[in-house]
Amino acid sequence: MSNSEQKRVQSVKLPPDKVMHKLVSLAKRRGFIFQSSEIYEGLSSCFDYGPLGSELKKNIKDLWWKSMTRRHQNIVGIDASIMMNPRVWEASGHVSSFNDPMIDDKTTKRRYRADHIIENHIEKLRRDGKDQDALRVQGRYEAAGGAKDSNRALYELIIAEGIKAQDTGSGDWTEVRQFNLMFQCNMGAVADTASIVYLRPETAQGIFVNFHNVRESSRMRVPFGIAQIGKAFRNEIVKGNFIFRMVEFEQMEMQYFVKPGTQAEAFEAWREERFNWYTESLGISREKLHWYKHDKLAHYADLAYDIKFEFPFGIEEIEGIHSRTDFDLKQHQEFSGKNMEYIDQLTNERYIPYVVETSAGCDRLFLALLADAYTEDSVDGEERVVLRLSPKVAPVKAAVLPLMKKGGMGEAALKLRDELSTDFLIQYDDAGSIGKRYRRQDEIGTPFCITVDHQSLEENTVTVRYRDSALQERIEISRVKEFLAAKLV
Ligand code: ATP
Repeated sequence: MSNSEQKRVQSVKLPPDKVMHKLVSLAKRRGFIFQSSEIYEGLSSCFDYGPLGSELKKNIKDLWWKSMTRRHQNIVGIDASIMMNPRVWEASGHVSSFNDPMIDDKTTKRRYRADHIIENHIEKLRRDGKDQDALRVQGRYEAAGGAKDSNRALYELIIAEGIKAQDTGSGDWTEVRQFNLMFQCNMGAVADTASIVYLRPETAQGIFVNFHNVRESSRMRVPFGIAQIGKAFRNEIVKGNFIFRMVEFEQMEMQYFVKPGTQAEAFEAWREERFNWYTESLGISREKLHWYKHDKLAHYADLAYDIKFEFPFGIEEIEGIHSRTDFDLKQHQEFSGKNMEYIDQLTNERYIPYVVETSAGCDRLFLALLADAYTEDSVDGEERVVLRLSPKVAPVKAAVLPLMKKGGMGEAALKLRDELSTDFLIQYDDAGSIGKRYRRQDEIGTPFCITVDHQSLEENTVTVRYRDSALQERIEISRVKEFLAAKLV
């Protein structure tokens, strides 16, 4: 690209606090995301994916599925039921301990997670350069987690440190109470305690309970993995930030079963692979991704890292990578009375496998992709909004635009659209000036605009305009399909 061509596109710097507002509005206007049941004023933290959103989401899920089940010969997929025997959730520990500590501010009537209030306070101390204070509070926080009455210990810590809510500055706190995040419903005609079932709060347990079914039916040998994409439900105390924290969301999880003692090696390999997937397969900016090591581990884990993304509202988790030991299979062995051991056919060794899990949220990733891609710039002095999505995830792969509808150009463009549509999602647009049509496509992240002009009819060629650089090249009509296919691998 020459310098003069580069200068056509001038970037505009956007303050991060403006980006969310613009994203939410673009998502609705162009059919990515709508508020659920909007005509009835919606439902808190529930959203619907529109025509373009459902395509983009499907692309994310397809890329993830391929990265697991095609790239690895020893990973197979399942699609387990959302409702399961309630004993599953007793065994997994969710009935007794899938709780978050909740605290209310009596003055502002706002509800918070007590752990978040303290963690934000520690972060603020660090930002203000008060490292000693941060360390002291961190120490007390960790001790509170292990205390006999941890609710009381968290409350006392908040009061002793004079911690206030960062959004309101108020600190008129109630006691801390535990709140179970699982949604309960009743199965059958009679609503009594015997009929309680739960909407699954994670997809992982559907994999654990099918360990032997999958292993036997697919003749899998340890180490092997089981992948699953599916809905999960959590009655979150604090919702919000658009689709970042929802009550109904989709997880993409893979449980990798290994021989005890080899989990650290498997963990490292998955850590590297998962991080690279975000940059290499999805095109997310590397500098916006961060590692976070858990010091405070969940009861089932011996090592845990999160991949975090720099959202416009802060750096937050998009995927957890956990070494879950043999906790889950052991628990299911105890609660179901079924043997969960694996017998190595070659060595005759028997053991309950250890598990390394990669657990990503599809909706959070969707938001990360939009936030990373959203750009405002100007082309030859004309301002535009452009989603710089990687062609692999972009919902519409190309737009076919006749320069004019008349003179055979409209027919030729429709013919090309039909030919390409067998393989790609293509839009045809003949309304308005060509510049306006480019802008419409830029805004939804369409990587290529293919224009059919007078020359096309004479020479069987079209121009391809690249979204990011606004550069154009002329190629033969017969090569367009091959051109697009090459850009999407
Ligand atoms: P958080 O601390 O943000 O509540 P978590 O640590 O509870 O998340 P996990 O249980 O590890 O999350 O779930 C794995 C992934 O599922 C998360 O990295 C996230 O992408 C996604 N996820 C979890 N809860 C939600 C939610 N309420 N809405 C959307 N995605 C979620």
